[in-house]
Amino acid sequence: MGYSEEDLLPLSALQHLLFCERQCALIHIEQAWSENRYTAEGRIMHERVDSGGRESRGTVRLAYGLALHSFRLGLVGKADVVEFHRDGAGNWQPFPVEHKRGRAKKENWDRVQLCAQAICLEEMLGTAVPAGALFYGKSRRRQDVVFDAELRAEVEATANRLHELIRSGNTPQARYEKKCENCSLVHLCMPKVTGARRSARKYMADALATSEK
Ligand code: SF4
Repeated sequence: MGYSEEDLLPLSALQHLLFCERQCALIHIEQAWSENRYTAEGRIMHERVDSGGRESRGTVRLAYGLALHSFRLGLVGKADVVEFHRDGAGNWQPFPVEHKRGRAKKENWDRVQLCAQAICLEEMLGTAVPAGALFYGKSRRRQDVVFDAELRAEVEATANRLHELIRSGNTPQARYEKKCENCSLVHLCMPKVTGARRSARKYMADALATSEK
């Protein structure tokens, strides 16, 4: 299935969705946004990289802040850096590099976002993009990522779920978890209160259902 231009959603929303569907809905349906230390550090780091322009380093050409889209995934966004490596046949092989604050995560979120960028590049440039890299600011480490079939399937499934969520227009209920403490929207979301309210409603509904039996 192909999406039209009006249906394109921000590529960055994939990460929001994987982190928490409620956070994703608050940002992309309810247009709520609140910056915390983590998002501010991430933004500053991206602003440094995201200056636009091009550069050559030996046999590698670099493009900064490259605009991306995929009608197949229904996504639009930007790549921090795309390196173009010259192969033996004289072709330029794209290799996306995404800069992240902090250290590598055990979850697949960053790899999903990077692979989505690769799928955009493949669609835009008509060439295979088999690998890219994540650069982590805190550890100053670069981690290579291979875009295998499993990761590509995860990108497709995440993009489909994102479109489903935005189409529904419904913000899921909060559920307090440890990750809420690092969430930029915790003060807007109030998961302990709104999640508890839901529990109370559910308790009442369950209690009434039991008394009717
Ligand atoms: S505070 Fe927790 S439940 Fe609320 S949006 Fe953030 S991660 Fe999701």
